[in-house]
Amino acid sequence: MATKKKNRKVKRLLKKLGVFGGIIVVLLAVLGYLYTSGLLEEWFFPKEEEAPVEGSVEFHFIDVGQGDAALIRTEVGNVLIDAGTNASEEALIAYLKAEGVKELAYAVFTHPHEDHIGGADAVLEYCDVEKVILPDATATTKVFARMMDAIEAEGADLIMAKPEATYRVGDLKLTVLAPIGKDYKDVNNESVVLRAAFGDTSVLFTGDAEDVSEEEMLQRYGKGDPLDCDLLKVGHHGSDSSTTEAFLKAVSPEYAVISCGEGNDYGHPKQSILQRLEAEDVTYWRTDLEGSIVVVSDGENLKKE
Ligand SMILES: [Zn+2]
Repeated sequence: MATKKKNRKVKRLLKKLGVFGGIIVVLLAVLGYLYTSGLLEEWFFPKEEEAPVEGSVEFHFIDVGQGDAALIRTEVGNVLIDAGTNASEEALIAYLKAEGVKELAYAVFTHPHEDHIGGADAVLEYCDVEKVILPDATATTKVFARMMDAIEAEGADLIMAKPEATYRVGDLKLTVLAPIGKDYKDVNNESVVLRAAFGDTSVLFTGDAEDVSEEEMLQRYGKGDPLDCDLLKVGHHGSDSSTTEAFLKAVSPEYAVISCGEGNDYGHPKQSILQRLEAEDVTYWRTDLEGSIVVVSDGENLKKE
């Protein structure tokens, strides 16, 4: 009697398992097919495919001596990233005039140091500026007060940079990558780091971000997009406080630009950084040796003019 009962139980169990087992086998087969066909990967990790772009975008690294100023020109609008020193503001305005630039869709002032915002007031006076992007950092300096007054007088919209915020100027896509943290010991790490992408090409503007910010970006974004870029505006004028080996490897640029002044007091760019770029086979250009540098993107390739 007991054996018969047991047998019936086993039979029922087998029956149940049979149904479940069958379902599991079918599920595994379907999953296997989806995996090998690549469909699974496509669904869960879709590749960000950029729509084809038309026309071109120019990246100007303007010679402002020991400082930073870059202009991005698209066919529908312009972006300025930093405005050089107070001493170079006339040269910067002359450059914008020669380019016929009177309007800026965005002006980004990466951090409140004089070699990046010295000419900000002059730019805001000369140009019609729609939006200004700043880090959440203040300074007690006159140059900072002058910039804030000029932003108010211009009536430009003020945007506090937040990581992964994106902005568009036509087909140009701007993505804020840093600052990620807050209350850094060194103001340089407050620098707004901005990725500018046009079609398949991308340029990384790092301001004066140092190793601390670079490490935070590596932690947050890892390898590949969005850190992976074709051209790196080398951080902090080629100081050895920036461009760590790990960061450079993650960005893996083909080209780099160092913005610094001829014979500057800081010894920028540092020999160790130049060697690091050379070791990674990066072709680099320096504003202290060449003056202003213009790189053009057709959406597929970057080409220095
Ligand atoms: Zn600087």
